[in-house]
Amino acid sequence: MSDINSFYCPSCKGYSSLTDRASYNKDVNGTHVGFCVSECNSCDFHFLVMRHRTSGNIIKIWPKTLPGKVNDLIPEPIKKDFEEALLCEVAGSYRGAAALARRTLQVICLDKGAPESMKLHKQIDWLFQNNIVTDEIKSWAHEVRYVGNDAAHPNATEVSNEEARDILELLESMCDVLYVAPARAAVRRARRTNTSGDVADEN
Ligand SMILES: [Zn+2]
Repeated sequence: MSDINSFYCPSCKGYSSLTDRASYNKDVNGTHVGFCVSECNSCDFHFLVMRHRTSGNIIKIWPKTLPGKVNDLIPEPIKKDFEEALLCEVAGSYRGAAALARRTLQVICLDKGAPESMKLHKQIDWLFQNNIVTDEIKSWAHEVRYVGNDAAHPNATEVSNEEARDILELLESMCDVLYVAPARAAVRRARRTNTSGDVADEN
């Protein structure tokens, strides 16, 4: 949300940019900010935007923008849970976001063949032991699990906005490595095969 040129419009449901139509400046808690009435460049929807006066970066926007779209190359059950986790984050329900991030992680483990009878931490280790994820991705998965556990269990610590954002980003990186990049590579490979009729490495 910090970049004026990248926001996901809740009205036209696409990535867009904003044009400021009217504004005034004000000091808020010692920070110089500008309040702007801004218009989506793809549709006629208007927002009230609070920006840093010097950098122009967005501090807050009303109504809240939707989370970025989850990549269509991610399998449907995983995508659905991930989207719900992002919606929780936007609504300020960080525990809900973390619990759904943990659930998304578990669906990924099952999709990648981890035994259903295992607990989540064992499933993550199973993926590593079977060379399905690297040591690095295993550690990302455990971070998502730790925060997700806090969200799921009574008396555990609260989940902050920052923690929810961190694990959602880790989850996105995991999905990129496990689903998005391989799917893109497969499409490239198929196109190359179709055009050249030859998949040999030509150096
Ligand atoms: Zn729009």
